[in-house]
Amino acid sequence: MSTSEPVLNYASARHDDTRPATKIVATIGPASEDRVIALIDAGMAVARINFSHGVDDDHRRRVEKVRTAARLKGQPVGVLADIQGPKLRLGQIAGGQARLEAGQELRLVEAAKSTDPGVIPLNFTGFRDTVKPQHRVLLADAAVELVIVGVDGEFLVARVQRGGVIADRKGVHFPDSLLTAELPTQQDRKHIALAQELGIDFLGVSFVSRAADLERIRDLAPSMMLVAKIERRTALDDLRGILEATDGVMVARGDLGVEVNLEHLPLVQKHLIAESVKAGKFVITATEMLESMVHASRPTRAEVTDVANAVLDGTDAVMLSAETAVGEHPVEAVRAMARIARAVETSPRYQELSRVPFRQNEPTFSNATALAAAHAAEALKIKKIICFTETGNTVRLLSRYRIAGDIIALTPSERTLHAMTILSHVRPLLCARETSLEDMLHEAQTVLVQSGMCAHGEEVIFVAGVPPGVARSTNVMKLHRIGEQTRFQ
Ligand code: PGA
Ligand code: MN
Repeated sequence: MSTSEPVLNYASARHDDTRPATKIVATIGPASEDRVIALIDAGMAVARINFSHGVDDDHRRRVEKVRTAARLKGQPVGVLADIQGPKLRLGQIAGGQARLEAGQELRLVEAAKSTDPGVIPLNFTGFRDTVKPQHRVLLADAAVELVIVGVDGEFLVARVQRGGVIADRKGVHFPDSLLTAELPTQQDRKHIALAQELGIDFLGVSFVSRAADLERIRDLAPSMMLVAKIERRTALDDLRGILEATDGVMVARGDLGVEVNLEHLPLVQKHLIAESVKAGKFVITATEMLESMVHASRPTRAEVTDVANAVLDGTDAVMLSAETAVGEHPVEAVRAMARIARAVETSPRYQELSRVPFRQNEPTFSNATALAAAHAAEALKIKKIICFTETGNTVRLLSRYRIAGDIIALTPSERTLHAMTILSHVRPLLCARETSLEDMLHEAQTVLVQSGMCAHGEEVIFVAGVPPGVARSTNVMKLHRIGEQTRFQ
């Protein structure tokens, strides 16, 4: 497996200035697994493998292809694997498909199958005690809306509020009920074990309801960064707890758009992005961003505006799903996203809107050093902060200030390298492990000049921890001119 192969020499690659500061996550599927190099060239920073589609061998092969391509390009690429979570579905309904009419009364039951058109089988357990009269039930992407009117033995009785067509295995949502659906499911457990084995960097946890869900997953996936997919309305009620328990968040607009009224989705997105950045967690905005490009070779005006607005909201990353997994123009979709992000990032409006207030109230050396560096970069109009990091913690703190420029993050740890690929403004780079600050500075300058990231004589800010190699010890900020000799004693 690629994960056990020797450390890559990322520094040998030339720096590419056209990559946006906002990161692009692209889902790898049949349409893109043989075009990974082109996706990286187009601007993909993180490759997503959706474990809900395909079998284990597909996932293994795709991860291998991403790792190989990244090594070939000398470009760090993170890998995000999504587990399906307790996705609720209908069982097999009478006739395979049915039209439900407004006003009609139906009975819902826990079952895999029903032959009675008046009985709708729900292919999961644990809803009978939590669903109450007046709660809504949404079927088939909210095509049909029911409201619960009562209980009759093993059945829930529901009335159709909005009629429409349903079919076998279509999705079910209970936006008003705090379901006790099990997370992780049996299948999730198998997928988490596979993700561990494959050395996956980020685990997308679908249908999180509350912080405790993530704590259970954390125990099973200790080496992965957790991404809480916010796609249940009930998750919004425990957002504070979820933000504390997770490493990052996905605004999963697909399922979330079923659970909250569509017209509320834009404001929910802005709220989730703002709260995540404030909490120092990364945030990915996902689903239907360039949906028309599944077929079309160019995005619509509305899609371009949607991506631009997510960047303006200050998201760390924007995501492509079907566009790259099964679409007709996967590479063009990534390219389009990169162009839109760059157009926004270079505008004064972005500098103004995406900025978060400098956090004074986190009394750690790391935060104070990050703050000092961000302030100094602003005051001196320095465009590069170079940060040595073991865990990526200081880099994460720096990233949320969305400074005008790049944070070049040097780490000797390949795991940290990959974990930083999702962070806005961060250019992760592998470096040798040095034992003194002088040696670190010397090594960094060599790598940065060689890769074309910095020019001789350029003013930069160095952020580091002494003694080197100790996690969470960031305590030095140095204003520096590239090429300058440095002696501390
Ligand atoms: P999915 O998650 O693509 O795995 O469903 C994203 C979403 O719901 O938006
Ligand atoms: Mn989803």
